[in-house]
Amino acid sequence: MMEWETVIGLEIHTQLATNSKIFSGASTTYGAAPNTQACAVDLGMPGVLPVLNAEVVRMAAKFGLATHSTVAPRSVFARKNYFYPDLPKGYQISQFELPIVHGGWLDIELEEGVSKRIGITRAHLEEDAGKSLHEDFHGMTGIDLNRAGTPLLEIVSEPDMRSAKEAVAYMKKIHALVRYLGISDGNMQEGSFRCDANVSVRPKGQQELGTRSELKNINSFRFVEQAINYEVERQIMVIEGGGAVVQETRLYDPGKQETRPMRSKEEANDYRYFPDPDLLPVEIDAAFIEAVRAGLPELPDAKKQRFVEQHGLSEYDAAVLTATRELADYYEAAVTASGGQGKLAANWVMGELSGALNRDDCDITNSPVSAQGLGELLQRINDGTVSGKLAKQVFEAMWNGEGSADAVIESKGLKQISDVSAIEGIIDEVLAGSPKQIEQYRAGQGKLLGYFVGQVMKATQGKANPGQVNELLKKKLDG
Ligand code: ADP
Ligand code: MG
Repeated sequence: MMEWETVIGLEIHTQLATNSKIFSGASTTYGAAPNTQACAVDLGMPGVLPVLNAEVVRMAAKFGLATHSTVAPRSVFARKNYFYPDLPKGYQISQFELPIVHGGWLDIELEEGVSKRIGITRAHLEEDAGKSLHEDFHGMTGIDLNRAGTPLLEIVSEPDMRSAKEAVAYMKKIHALVRYLGISDGNMQEGSFRCDANVSVRPKGQQELGTRSELKNINSFRFVEQAINYEVERQIMVIEGGGAVVQETRLYDPGKQETRPMRSKEEANDYRYFPDPDLLPVEIDAAFIEAVRAGLPELPDAKKQRFVEQHGLSEYDAAVLTATRELADYYEAAVTASGGQGKLAANWVMGELSGALNRDDCDITNSPVSAQGLGELLQRINDGTVSGKLAKQVFEAMWNGEGSADAVIESKGLKQISDVSAIEGIIDEVLAGSPKQIEQYRAGQGKLLGYFVGQVMKATQGKANPGQVNELLKKKLDG
């Protein structure tokens, strides 16, 4: 049996979060009635001229700096010519030979402590096309040009990924990054973040790349993984069956979980690229780049490292908590409100809180328990007012809107019993009722200590301070 190696390169289209379009003043707000947000420029009317939106240049530069890429001092817009009903001009304005960003990299984490560097070939600015609507039109197609002219940054990777898992890790990393940078909302349902996956296989050890197929327009992490895995199997079957993979564009069908041919792969020269005579080259000076650099937020990798050092987290926990900027912000606010309980806050955010968010299909930004509220609960755990176990009950009540940690502890009577004489009284009762177990314990069955602890906790409905119960019990039994 031949061993095969998978090779993957991704082209990610991310919609830039500008208010207006890349070459016109029309709004980019999602969800407007069809064709109400397309001006003469977006409609491709004769005689109009595109004017570059300066904000997209700033956003592309941010991305370039965050990925150790070169932000080109000079880049050029080009016309990519093709015919499609949702492209009235007959060409898309894109960048070809001189993109605004090139030659960078990004590290992805594969498992605890193992990372891999993925090359970023280039990232270029372009306009989106309109949308063809097939539903609701019997035997006809509707065209909505609201999306025409929406700014996109197309991020092209080197063919550095070797499995669907790596491709998903890379896509997630880019997704988190553009959201940290505030250059895209990354909304995958609305099409603001989608990718084309280029997939090929080759015999393990072979240098030369195999023939690739390109899986178009995938808009979920799960579908990327499924589509690649299907495609890898298909290509291996074709080759092992004596055939050859043809270079083509394929479509992934999530319902059938298979890829289907769409068209044979076009070559760059099919598009007759040439510099757009309506637009000047984009020239960026060092001062502009330094200003952009100065405005960069703390990036995910740096934040993760800081969480490890400042809050005493493992690499894994720090990676989970910095996966999105919102989660990281929530976590740090909870740590502050808890008086610096970094590890405890991590356990609660990744445990109870994430569980409740998932269960009730909530987002961290509208969590019923605020970071401040969770921090207060953590303080009560830390100062011994409530045991870790009963704190989960308090949390549930807070989640259901029954008030703050202190209010819930008070109203439900969940305060931990830490009073020595009160605990001793209960221990004496328990011991008086268990003469046989005491005998066995003293005869060497040390593990019976757990039985006594259990009895005391039961008698106090879990409210006795477990540390004190252990200590006092041992004293009485051994003394
Ligand atoms: P286009 O798809 O527009 O023709 P490129 O040829 O630059 O553009 O390739 C686009 C993507 O395909 C890149 O992400 C690149 O890494 C990836 N790629 C190129 N060749 C292969 C291959 N043989 N197998 C897998 N991915 C590939
Ligand atoms: Mg391509």
